[in-house]
Amino acid sequence: MDGDEFDDKKSHDDTTTAAAAKATSALDDKLQEERKTLPIYQYRDAFLQAVKDHQVLIIVGETGSGKTTQIPQYLHEAGYTKRGKIGCTQPRRVAAMSVAARVAKEMGVRLGHEVGYAIRFEDCTSRNTVLKYMTDGLLLKEFGDQPDLAEYTVLVLDEAHERSLPTDMLFALVKDLARSRPDLKVLISSATLDAEKFSDFFDSAPVFKIPGRRFPVEINHTLAPEADYLDAAIVTALQIHTKEPPGDILMFLTGQEEIETAEQILQQRTRGFGTKIAELIICPIYAGLPTELQAKIFEPTPQGARKVVLATNIAETSVTIDGIKYVIDPGFCKKKSYNPRTRMDSLQVAPISKASANQRAGRSGRTGPGKCFRLYTASNYQDLEDNNVPEIQRTNLSNVVLILKSMGIDDLINFEFMDQPPPEALLQALELLYALSALNKNGLLTKVGKKMVDFPLDPMLSKMVVASDKYKCSEEIITIAAMLSVGNAIFYCPKDKRVHAENAKISFHVGDVGDHIALLRVYNSWKETNFSRQWCYENYIQVRSMKTARDIRDQLEGLLEKAGIELTSNLNDVDAIKKCIMSGFFPNIARLDKYGSYRTLKHPHTVHLHPGSGLAEVLPRCVVYHELVLTAKEYMRQVTEVKPAWLVEIAPHYYQMKDVDDPALKKMPRGVGRIGKELLAAANIATFAKGVYPV
Ligand code: ADP
Ligand code: MG
Repeated sequence: MDGDEFDDKKSHDDTTTAAAAKATSALDDKLQEERKTLPIYQYRDAFLQAVKDHQVLIIVGETGSGKTTQIPQYLHEAGYTKRGKIGCTQPRRVAAMSVAARVAKEMGVRLGHEVGYAIRFEDCTSRNTVLKYMTDGLLLKEFGDQPDLAEYTVLVLDEAHERSLPTDMLFALVKDLARSRPDLKVLISSATLDAEKFSDFFDSAPVFKIPGRRFPVEINHTLAPEADYLDAAIVTALQIHTKEPPGDILMFLTGQEEIETAEQILQQRTRGFGTKIAELIICPIYAGLPTELQAKIFEPTPQGARKVVLATNIAETSVTIDGIKYVIDPGFCKKKSYNPRTRMDSLQVAPISKASANQRAGRSGRTGPGKCFRLYTASNYQDLEDNNVPEIQRTNLSNVVLILKSMGIDDLINFEFMDQPPPEALLQALELLYALSALNKNGLLTKVGKKMVDFPLDPMLSKMVVASDKYKCSEEIITIAAMLSVGNAIFYCPKDKRVHAENAKISFHVGDVGDHIALLRVYNSWKETNFSRQWCYENYIQVRSMKTARDIRDQLEGLLEKAGIELTSNLNDVDAIKKCIMSGFFPNIARLDKYGSYRTLKHPHTVHLHPGSGLAEVLPRCVVYHELVLTAKEYMRQVTEVKPAWLVEIAPHYYQMKDVDDPALKKMPRGVGRIGKELLAAANIATFAKGVYPV
């Protein structure tokens, strides 16, 4: 850090202190009083002493004890920000944003100034930022760019018990960094009490325990398993609301869709109550929720009303919501899992662990005695796994491997992970990166690989972006990459306007161009209207998602320049765009089979076109897909038709002519699906074999 910057920071510190002193309003006093009521407050001095005495410290305290919001502030107050920043990582984006907002408020500063947050594609910090909340993935990226993390004086790896993939990688990297930077303080913060493992890993680092305050929680199990847990959860919420004493409700659901459904049903049913029953305020919280709506869950419930928070497992430990007295726990969450057989990641709804069940129950007993309603039986509870499996042991590791390689860490087998990833998954990640030409035969990073690392995208997406240089379509490809990164929240379909919404959606798919090009058309049409909000409404497109896509696209555009890739447009050459997509996604090729479903080409298994795909009724013969999602069936989402011959052109090292040739399918007319999937499924296999299709 050069002298100028240091001076600048110092004078800035002085001005903030002065400003803060002036700005002490009644509200600030109240917040300051609240800070003092947190369990951690009593241990403030002891904590600061422990940090002073030890380079690495493990901190353990129950959710809500004040770890995330207070620790960085205490360190700031004790002067640790005089020469650099305090970085505090969170496995979840929403947590990083909401906690930063809270801390900025407590410190009486504007978010993004002294206190800021940074998550992928969004940097809400400035050069004055001294407390930086960020996702663990982002710190990992910073590690790659600046291996000594010189601008930080303290790193807090928060929510360590979550064992997210980036946090696990950070454990190893930070442990190593601490050896070469004796001035760096490292804090590992966890909500579970078994901190021994962390302590062992960090060379017997001391454990600082913050005794929590916990009131008794009455746990109720159902007598029989629930067939429909969503319905059971809603019924339970309404029973609590009508029969139980005041106190807010926290309901754990698995994702945005489920939360939205629950919200609608609850609204409908409470409308029928009339004025006899108290108001029920419904507050959703999940990863994609816009910041302004997130604030709602923290607002105090008005007298006489009751709040029901519908949350994903973000509310298990990442964010603390005050005033919760009742917890409804259906016992499920979405879990990522990697299947080495199909080499696919999928996000599946799965039973939680005992540790999670206990965390969830604990959320009701923070400020007084609570009640937890488990929508599963006591014996179901006994059958749950004790702990969550660390993410590193159940995910695709290609991104991990690419990042480590880019840091010059080549010996992955001996890399010091807290828990080793399965060797099979490591090997498959190496294979994939080799196939993508990111690694050479010796497992070393290639030029292409180096460029790929510059993009904060999964390896297949970043390969696609890097390949756009060759196909002269970088303008289009970064738009597609940005739209894909937003997830599946572009189109929306209100129940009462379904036909209009579907027609609007179809208009982007004219010519059966496939989902990737349709996304490109959506973006370009929006851009032509000068990013009009009205246009989004008229076309049933989510404005918020589009804005996110625009931000991501802007960033990718900047990164293209850094990677030395020219910005070129090749809008009219749809084949070039498709080939470019395939350059990254050639492992994701599937072919129509005789039954109207698909078989993946390389490691064959059966998959289906997602009903939301623009090609769902077309059933092209050969497709490239962006991802697989497992719901009732294994669905391919974001699909585009490709020519089998392109496979050997684009990935000759991966496919051979014999993979591509399939005489039975060749004879099938294109667009058989138009006739109707049911008919196709019912069609007689023998007819197919002869190449005759009943038209
Ligand atoms: P821990 O990290 O130990 O679980 P936190 O520091 O997150 O605890 O939370 C301490 C307290 O800060 C909570 O009880 C809650 O009252 C308050 N708090 C945290 N985040 C917010 C927020 N975004 N808005 C309002 N209050 C918050
Ligand atoms: Mg916390």
